[in-house]
Amino acid sequence: MHNYICDNCGAYLDPGERCTCRDTHERNLQMVDELLTEDQEGQMVLKEAMENGTYTRL
Ligand SMILES: [Zn+2]
Repeated sequence: MHNYICDNCGAYLDPGERCTCRDTHERNLQMVDELLTEDQEGQMVLKEAMENGTYTRL
């Protein structure tokens, strides 16, 4: 019995299966990038908050 374990997240994989955790991480980063923008002071704010006129500083 062969156990393949992702060295990144520790998930059990089938032989030859490639874990998608890194892909998910990349996607999350991209999503954050799409959601956030910088205000005039260089603070990261939600674009949604900017559009609504409500500043939500992170
Ligand atoms: Zn993984």
